Amino acid sequence: MKRVAIVGCGNYMDHCYGCPGDWKCLKAATLGEGLFAEESQVIAFVRCECPGRTVVPNTGFAFRLAQMAPDAIHLSSCIALVKPDCPYHTPEQFAEMLEEKTGVDVVLGTHEYM
Ligand code: SF4
Repeated sequence: MKRVAIVGCGNYMDHCYGCPGDWKCLKAATLGEGLFAEESQVIAFVRCECPGRTVVPNTGFAFRLAQMAPDAIHLSSCIALVKPDCPYHTPEQFAEMLEEKTGVDVVLGTHEYM
């Protein structure tokens, strides 16, 4: 089974309705729905905090603690797909920084649930 990590927007989790922090991303990964191409094991869920300075090193640290690297990192849909955008980085900038730090491909999005 594919192993994935999810990077989510802490600001969205704290201030937007309908997201307690993870369940839609985890459901999509479990069922292989949305942006997950197949049923996937989540080995890390990293919460970004404004202004986004810690998310890249924390993601690398999460992989070190897990003692494994995932096959892909998914930027949560609340980072990659919703409006208004993150005011600090584009999804593409997050993806580039994460790929450079970890060597793992980044997918822009997780779920398509409302
Ligand atoms: S920096 Fe952007 S992605 Fe990260 S928590 Fe803040 S708004 Fe969300």
